Amino acid sequence: MNLPMQISMSAPDITPAEIEAVKQVLQTPYLSIGPKVEEFERKMAEYVGAKHAIGVNSGTAGLHLAIIAANVRQGDEVITTPFSFVASANCILYERATPVFVDIDPHTLNIDPALIEAAITPRTKAILPVHAFGQPADMDIILDIARRYNLFVIEDACEAIGAQYKGRKAGALGDGGIFAFYPNKQMTTGEGGIIVTNKDEWNELFRSLRNQGRDVFNTWLEHNRLGYNYRLNEMSAALGVVQLGRLPELLAKRTQVANWYNKRLEGVEAIKIPYISPNTTYMSWFVYVIQLRADIDRHRIMADLQRHGIPSRPYFSCIHLQPFYRKMYGFKPGDFKVAESAANSVLALPFHGNLSEITVAYICESLLEAIQKQLL
Ligand SMILES: *Cc1c(COP(=O)(O)O)cnc(C)c1O
Repeated sequence: MNLPMQISMSAPDITPAEIEAVKQVLQTPYLSIGPKVEEFERKMAEYVGAKHAIGVNSGTAGLHLAIIAANVRQGDEVITTPFSFVASANCILYERATPVFVDIDPHTLNIDPALIEAAITPRTKAILPVHAFGQPADMDIILDIARRYNLFVIEDACEAIGAQYKGRKAGALGDGGIFAFYPNKQMTTGEGGIIVTNKDEWNELFRSLRNQGRDVFNTWLEHNRLGYNYRLNEMSAALGVVQLGRLPELLAKRTQVANWYNKRLEGVEAIKIPYISPNTTYMSWFVYVIQLRADIDRHRIMADLQRHGIPSRPYFSCIHLQPFYRKMYGFKPGDFKVAESAANSVLALPFHGNLSEITVAYICESLLEAIQKQLL
């Protein structure tokens, strides 16, 4: 088969409607803190089913503010997963608190709720589960533990817009949830994020913290707390409004692509396709990640795919084994065996909503050929 075209790991899905919406903002005097951010927040709160939505300029900024709202301070501990994008633990370090990693479930690759209680100490302030790859963590068990120990729950839903856990939308299940809109996510604002919460005090606090610590209804330059410039701009918000309106379509296209991959890779020797838990009543496909059997050389697979013009990535690599985490905390291989075994076997294949069935077939054929070479 011939190479269909340039294949990318991910791609935003932008139509003339998005371009027109951004252009219209540029013809107004409101380029930041204007009507589009308000509209985006209102529609996002409604979509997720949360009382409040607060726009910020990245998912990482949203996570940081949620950690502050949960009153996490120096010396405190936050329980989280080592199998994630580094931002989900970095936000704990920003407040000089300690991330306490708990190993993951080998099937969902999300934090293993059965291991959380043993990690709780008197210094634990919050649990920060990540809905990895768009699949919700096992929230009922996590929320029950949090209630019993009086802990906050912050959902890193940056990869999971639209995902549903037992019929409820991910992100609105804990005290605060964060979505991210970098161009590789299911929907994009260029850079940007949203915090959702049902707590009125957190809503006020987030609006102040993102805007240099000014109180919401206060005089112009009075700062009542240490704040940040984490504001979302109007062009991004306008882009977000159109993308949110198209989200059912965007997610459906990604589901179709995931189904094409599944159909071709299901049952193939030496490959595990993504596991979807029965609790995941709607999977919001962020990436398509397979796991390779331990005797398969991932490096060689990636090189073989690259020769066919196909990019691929090991995604995630463990946070606790990142060089500066090792240096700060003395983590070493073997500390979180399930997460490490997942990290050593995962391979993300090119994935976005506009991949054609022919391209998916080409990628799968090339992958099977590369694996076959190693099984001989
Ligand atoms: C993308 C992502 C983030 C951070 O989002 P940014 O908008 O890039 O700051 C945080 N956590 C996870 C799991 C992510 O995938």
